[in-house]
Amino acid sequence: MSSDSSVIKEVPFGRPMIGESEKAAVMQAMSSPQLVHGPRIHEFEDAFAAMLGPDAYATSVSSCTAGLHLSYLHLGVGPGDEVIVPAQTHAATAHAVEVTGARPVFVDCDESGNIDVTQIAGHVTDRTKAICVVHYPGLPVVMDVVSAVASQKGLAVVEDCALAIGASLDGVSCGLLGDLGSFSFYPVKHMTTGEGGMVVSRDPDVIASIASLKAFGYDRSAAARTIPGIYDIARLGINYRMSEMAAAIGMVQLGRINGFDSRRKANAKVLREGLAGIEGVRLLPDGDARRRHANYCLVAVLEPNLVQHRNSIILHMKEMGVGTSVYYPVPLPLSAYYRGRYSPDPDAFPNAKLISEGSIALPIGPHLSSEDMAIVAESMSIAVKEVQ
Ligand SMILES: *Cc1c(COP(=O)(O)O)cnc(C)c1O
Repeated sequence: MSSDSSVIKEVPFGRPMIGESEKAAVMQAMSSPQLVHGPRIHEFEDAFAAMLGPDAYATSVSSCTAGLHLSYLHLGVGPGDEVIVPAQTHAATAHAVEVTGARPVFVDCDESGNIDVTQIAGHVTDRTKAICVVHYPGLPVVMDVVSAVASQKGLAVVEDCALAIGASLDGVSCGLLGDLGSFSFYPVKHMTTGEGGMVVSRDPDVIASIASLKAFGYDRSAAARTIPGIYDIARLGINYRMSEMAAAIGMVQLGRINGFDSRRKANAKVLREGLAGIEGVRLLPDGDARRRHANYCLVAVLEPNLVQHRNSIILHMKEMGVGTSVYYPVPLPLSAYYRGRYSPDPDAFPNAKLISEGSIALPIGPHLSSEDMAIVAESMSIAVKEVQ
């Protein structure tokens, strides 16, 4: 590694945007008699749904992973069933299927990094119950083919929206494009509640079902609740609830989300321009007339001849104070767990391999400024040139 690189300023990949208002809101929630089941949860759920659109319903959960798991429980997915999922994604996308006893069936991505929709129909069998899409890394999947296959074959569509707050297709928010959508409030995602998530749908009955599944399957009808402490258990459920403290943070974060979104958008624009001249690097596509990008991060993919140097470029950028990440470091079907479980063809996911082995996720979060973007672009340019 070169020694000419001195750290001028640290540019971390992500940082939770917690301020005094979030802290005050948590203190207030902690002083209330209800730490769960309180008013903040419903306020947060209603506000989140309203942000997505007038026809949205939402129920809070303890994480996006919990939300995906509940989605499959709601759909009755279990042993013997299959769910189509993208290969280029977070472990949670497939694990949420796998823990139900069903089998995730992996489909490669296209050049954008999103699931290759042209390959979906070819993976549908008579065991398929649902198709899961991930809007990676904030770019909406063009749903036309997905929706057509789903309605032809009678399949549910589940959206993993962990990277998609602010993303929309033809003006419809991600999360409302299929039957159920799950969002993440993990600390460095678009907004945070510490840990947390939200399941959304256009169908209020679906959300009522998820709300019961996340709370032990209690019968929450009025008749069952007239006498304190007396209730019935209507179905099998689990505890994936969000606390009042988390919802209190979420309400404050929702008030700031437009500001976060503008900052991400502006950063992405500046960084795209800053990286335009770097040889050997292509950027995953921006949004377009149909697709509004949520700009979770900016993924730079190295040309094949530079892929062997990816990790040293990352380390060199780190030396220069620039934090990066890799989304995601292995095509999920080729991870140790899924390899051991299903022995997939190692050559079946060429596009996911190009991204997982040859990409660097660059920071554009709301904790960063345009000046920071210049530092990111400069450090990448130096690090890439050094290996050429
Ligand atoms: C982060 C992430 C998840 C998991 O979200 P949690 O809230 O941490 O459970 C799921 N899917 C994708 C695509 C993610 O990036």
